[in-house]
Amino acid sequence: MWYFVSPEIAYGEDALSCLDELGGKRAFIVTDKQIVSIGFAAQVKEHLSRAGIDCQVYDEVEPEPSIETIKKGAEVVRIYEPDWIVGLGGGSVMDAAKAMWVLYERPDIEPAEINPFAPLGLRKKARLITIPTTSGTGSDSNWGLVLTDTSEQRKLAVGCREAHADIAIIDPVFVIGMPPQLTADTGMDALTHALEGFTSGWKNDFCDGLCLKAIQLVFQYLPRAYHNGQDEEAREKMHNAASIAGLGFGNSMAGLAHSAGHSLGAVFHIPHGRTVGLFLPYTIEFTANIAANHYAEIAHLLKLEHTGVENAAFSLAQAVRQLAQSINQPLTIKDLGISRDGFENSLSKLVSNADMDTQTVTSARVPTTEEFERLFRYAYDGKPVDF
Ligand SMILES: [Zn+2]
Repeated sequence: MWYFVSPEIAYGEDALSCLDELGGKRAFIVTDKQIVSIGFAAQVKEHLSRAGIDCQVYDEVEPEPSIETIKKGAEVVRIYEPDWIVGLGGGSVMDAAKAMWVLYERPDIEPAEINPFAPLGLRKKARLITIPTTSGTGSDSNWGLVLTDTSEQRKLAVGCREAHADIAIIDPVFVIGMPPQLTADTGMDALTHALEGFTSGWKNDFCDGLCLKAIQLVFQYLPRAYHNGQDEEAREKMHNAASIAGLGFGNSMAGLAHSAGHSLGAVFHIPHGRTVGLFLPYTIEFTANIAANHYAEIAHLLKLEHTGVENAAFSLAQAVRQLAQSINQPLTIKDLGISRDGFENSLSKLVSNADMDTQTVTSARVPTTEEFERLFRYAYDGKPVDF
């Protein structure tokens, strides 16, 4: 038995006004300084004040938030005693909001103890609202969260199906001004979620349609959103795609592009979407034989030319590379400016991080240590290897 979970989703133009009708007394808005400086936190406060709700804004969340940040924030939440926690920002902020909420509800546990098999008994003190300001992470609509263990230089990807938002607000007003690089990074993340959600070992009937729709939307609208940020239709479609992909992979799982991407990101401090998007074509090729039919379905949907089911994965990997190239994303680890020496010196750490990552076990094909090494080497310079 398993479950499909989803927040209530308010989407489209003016979705933010759903806050005007909210019940409650105090909202704790978790965000970052950038979001405050461009006026988004004030916009959210304005709507909450119409509902008679007082707010405290906490803007201390850094990109790829550390466990220390979460614990510090949770202390502030405990003093304020809100009945709503609002995560307003990108994936880092929404994950931080989720984690602070969990620690507010359950001061007796450590973030690393959050797992899909142990009920937490959340919602006794507060409920959660997520408001994404990028189009990619999917954290708004799923129950996973990624934190950084700075002492171990690794990502902690945890989750519990209670830890989803009660309300996710998918309002395109927050992404119309997103810079091109952030659009590209987060858009490739959304694509990776949808593609891995459709091919992971935990794929299922409830998620397949969502993942396919998100893949189609990203291929169609990401280049438009990247090249013309003011394209309102492309922005709205990408914002929806990210959230749909979040629901899709959030209720199945991600795979190797995420475990390898988490690992590279934690060691070399590279944004999440850039690393997972970089690994995606390589991991499609690595799992080509195991998930051949699934890749063929995607290739068919995208009308890619290929010669038979067994080659569809390779056509798809090429299409992903072309998409990445069209939005100026790196195709190899070398393209990220990482030297061969730096890479080789970190290879064992990269492999052991990826091996321990929770997304590895749900991959269609779980690599051995040697296979992980070959996968990383292939992604370093794009020179084909024998899997
Ligand atoms: Zn991701």
